[in-house]
Amino acid sequence: MEAFWNNIRKVTPYTPGEQPKTENVIKLNTNENPYPPSPKVTEALESIGRLRMYPDPAASELVGAIADYKGLKKEQVFVGVGSDDVLAMCFLTFFNGKLPILFPDITYSFYDVWAELFQVPYELQKLKKDFSIDPEDYKKKNGGIIFPNPNAPTGVDMGLSKIEEILQENPDVIVIVDEAYVDFGCESAVSLLEKYPNLLVVQTFSKSRSLAGLRIGYAMGSSALIKALNDVKYSFNSYTMNQPSIVLGKAAIADEAYFQDTRRKIMETREWFKGEMKKLDFHFPDSKANFIFASHERIPASQIFEAARRENIYVRYFNKPGIDNYLRITIGTHSEMESFLTFLRTFIGKTV
Ligand code: PMP
Repeated sequence: MEAFWNNIRKVTPYTPGEQPKTENVIKLNTNENPYPPSPKVTEALESIGRLRMYPDPAASELVGAIADYKGLKKEQVFVGVGSDDVLAMCFLTFFNGKLPILFPDITYSFYDVWAELFQVPYELQKLKKDFSIDPEDYKKKNGGIIFPNPNAPTGVDMGLSKIEEILQENPDVIVIVDEAYVDFGCESAVSLLEKYPNLLVVQTFSKSRSLAGLRIGYAMGSSALIKALNDVKYSFNSYTMNQPSIVLGKAAIADEAYFQDTRRKIMETREWFKGEMKKLDFHFPDSKANFIFASHERIPASQIFEAARRENIYVRYFNKPGIDNYLRITIGTHSEMESFLTFLRTFIGKTV
């Protein structure tokens, strides 16, 4: 067995009651209510199926749709309640050794929270001055590696060759690439799955598929790693995916044209917005995500943040050393970005 299996959590999972796929059964095995929910609920959700019953614990319809779309086997896909749930399960499953896991010092702020929660030792790796990840920092003994690509909140992406460099140096641990924003113009590591059995790629429906409210995330990897993940999930909560998420998620995957159209619009708006922000003396690392991470030459980010809020424009400000003079600005519609720029022009004009 490959060495990376030493640190993977192995458990005997809880077995949920059977959810038969056939109709005409008298189903008295999982303490469900025989009566339908309120007619108002069924009215609103008519298209979604029966809510009286527990959903398919394996969410097979959704898993199958994602697997087909990605050209993977269904055994290679794990779904969860947003990628937050998937990533939390990954921490619990794959980061179970004594050596510290590695991730960037400026990155998704949930990683250190999960590491603390699950008591996983971790070591932060400094980003370079230009906010890029240096693969050299990930060539030391460790208990696992995780980073987003493109990174958040910087939007900076890392090419597949650098990801491969990290994978080649780390065959004995699990390497997780968090691709929450990958659909906005950066190359996915899914193509590397066949070559690296210790790689796991995590994506979400929350960003590029406009379904943050539905909570669907998924991990892709070898069927052995996905089984390890499922074993932990079934030891925690069998029914993570609710029926509406399964049905609506599958419908979202089926509409490729809409997906392509909306992500193209966001990328176009982003590129135009970058140009307008430069004219206003903002600087920012080049972003491949649906946000930019911008700092103004003269005006502190905290001041812009507060002033925008007073105008009911909400951007994200992180009061953290190293990034406390930056704003993370999500790319909205063209007209939303126009409104933000109009606010900025006035505000910057007043503070000259
Ligand atoms: N990864 C990164 C890098 C993120 O920024 C987010 C969004 N907060 C997530 C994962 C989680 O997104 P979700 O749970 O909505 O899929």
